[in-house]
Amino acid sequence: MEDFKNKCFVCQTKITANNSELNLEVNLPVCNSCKGTEKEKQKTEEYLDSLADDLVCGCI
Ligand SMILES: [Zn+2]
Repeated sequence: MEDFKNKCFVCQTKITANNSELNLEVNLPVCNSCKGTEKEKQKTEEYLDSLADDLVCGCI
């Protein structure tokens, strides 16, 4: 099983607590080079969309 807590959710780079921050919208870590970039925003939206899809599937 992969440990998402040790990877940047944007670029999949291995990270530590020292070079990353938590993205509070998705509750996943993001590295310092991705933090605040358009890429991070895009990934956040993709991630939230996929969660929304799962919810929709259960309701229809
Ligand atoms: Zn990154």
